[in-house]
Amino acid sequence: MTNPFFEPSTLPYGMPPFADISEEHYRPAFEEGMAEQLAEVRNISGRSDLPSFENTMIPLEQSGQILDRVATVFFNKSSADSNDFTDELEEEIAPKLAAHSDAIKLDAELYRRIKAIHDSLAELDLDPESKYLVERYYIEFTVAGAGLDETEKEKLRDYNQRLSTLTTRFEKNLLADTNDLAVLIEDVTELDGLEPGEISAAAEAAKDRGLEGKYLVTLVLPTGHPFLSSLKNRDVRARIMAASRARGSRGGEWDNSQLVLEITKLRAERAALLGFDSHGAWVIADETAKNPANVAELLARLATPAAKNAREEQLDLEAIAGHPIEAHDWAFFSEKVRAAKYDVDEAAMRPYFEAETVLQNGVFFAATKLYGVTFTERSDIVAYHPEVRVFEVLNEDGSAVGLFTLDLYTRDSKHGGAWMNSLISQSALLEHPVIVTNNLNVPKPAAGEPTLLTYNEVNTFFHEFGHALHGLFARVEYPKFAGTNTYRDFVEFPSQVNEMWMLWPEVLANYGIHHRTGEPMPQEFVDKIQASSAFNEGFLTSEYLAAALLDQAWHALSAGTVVGDVAAFETAALDAAGLSNPAVPTRYSSTYFAHTFSGGYDAGYYSYIWSEVLDADTVEWFKENGGLTRENGDRFRERLLGVGGSKDPLEAFRHFRGRDADIQPLLDRRGLN
Ligand SMILES: [Zn+2]
Repeated sequence: MTNPFFEPSTLPYGMPPFADISEEHYRPAFEEGMAEQLAEVRNISGRSDLPSFENTMIPLEQSGQILDRVATVFFNKSSADSNDFTDELEEEIAPKLAAHSDAIKLDAELYRRIKAIHDSLAELDLDPESKYLVERYYIEFTVAGAGLDETEKEKLRDYNQRLSTLTTRFEKNLLADTNDLAVLIEDVTELDGLEPGEISAAAEAAKDRGLEGKYLVTLVLPTGHPFLSSLKNRDVRARIMAASRARGSRGGEWDNSQLVLEITKLRAERAALLGFDSHGAWVIADETAKNPANVAELLARLATPAAKNAREEQLDLEAIAGHPIEAHDWAFFSEKVRAAKYDVDEAAMRPYFEAETVLQNGVFFAATKLYGVTFTERSDIVAYHPEVRVFEVLNEDGSAVGLFTLDLYTRDSKHGGAWMNSLISQSALLEHPVIVTNNLNVPKPAAGEPTLLTYNEVNTFFHEFGHALHGLFARVEYPKFAGTNTYRDFVEFPSQVNEMWMLWPEVLANYGIHHRTGEPMPQEFVDKIQASSAFNEGFLTSEYLAAALLDQAWHALSAGTVVGDVAAFETAALDAAGLSNPAVPTRYSSTYFAHTFSGGYDAGYYSYIWSEVLDADTVEWFKENGGLTRENGDRFRERLLGVGGSKDPLEAFRHFRGRDADIQPLLDRRGLN
């Protein structure tokens, strides 16, 4: 019996053969994949000839293809369609993968070869992408500890494996506690204010858990819940907010408090071993921000005006509510103020945001206008779940771009939030095509009901599709640089830019159509949205900055610093930043801050605002140059999106923009002047 991961897929675009993959294939493929890659790497490091680009870097980039195939499919499944099997295997495999990665990155002979090539780089006749590949490997191996002695490396391996186990457990606890804390509603009148589609989704969710006739409000990842803006019952709002904020901190088997303390302690110790003052200093050394001081400077510049704006917004809310505003009241009364001040009614907009129309006539339409690409559904290609749709993406001249797959709806087996990942990453060296996936968490309406998106969901749709385009348009030689494989504090930039097309008049006119009447969204809605664009930005910026500052605070700890209590640490960090307003809770508290404790954004949650500086300045550029045109799209695609990680991102930005980014457009956008 053959294992489908052992050979490259022969399906269109290299789509993994999902129909042939079953649970028993994963473990042997991981084992074989790690063994194969290790043998390949030993073949490089064991060579006796002089190190060269061809005998070292190329085979290194070609190594590990079985592992790449199985890991891509498995981690896609464990985030989008998990079950007990994936949970268990993930917990088992994560430390093994960490050890495997260490075995390569800490291979002294391999490092010696890379360093030798790096030291003679100026004399080598290599193209710029190849030179950059050497630079990147050299820095990554150095930062990873390849230069440590054997005893130190042994300690490092131990840290890496323990951390990998702890972060996996954090994620598992969070999913379990999130499902467990879903709020059960007995009587439909308590859901007064919700849309019929939302109520039927809640009824469906209850039924899925054998609670027919009741209603289940499932939690989303951030602190705020989309229902809080419309639920009239204050007590129900308070219950949802309390459940959301309790995640991971209730005691018992799913409590993440101890994990937070252990993870941050071990990260600080590991950084010290590697010669850095803190985990943050270590992480940011290999980012475009370079060091935590640069990050702190940007966050501090924004925190004071954001907190001040939030307090002013709060006074407006209290005036209309007639009572003090608590965290669970903010969204509800801000909707009322929005309605009063700008007369924008988000609920009235939803009939104009029917999901399929948003996809075809909005998200896809904008991409066609900008880049000439077209999308054709390929229902003959099997994806990883029956709900996933597959689209073939072609250039204007009919040449292939790749496949785009869309997994729109929420389900219990799917992790919260929205994200993009690749099922196969583009590389000329490996002759790989590209397949990208977008995952959203839109509640599924009852059969026969249309899927009407919220304003935020439409925005997320455009955002995630921006990541998808970044992956799809990659035209790089080396797999290391494909698409979104770039710096973490840069990778959100292209996706944020794509959000601009959501309200672009030509795009909105094309998709903002009432699902029943076929009438276009009234112009006054659009004008009001534009007029209210800085509305509530004090709150939004503050809750984001609070989370970003918490993430920095945890990772500014030096080795040996003892933190006794998670909640007290949070309060102190937010007080110090001037962001401790109880009505404006942090977007994530530590015990459910998946980005920083399991999601790979540790010391990196600042990245969103860091890359938004580039985003806001790029939006300005598009506006100055005529907006939605092929010429603009092609320039962005060629100079930025297609480059992936294959050159210094800030250099790519200069090539596109003609200069460094200016912060002013960001300050204007968020009303922080
Ligand atoms: Zn994103």
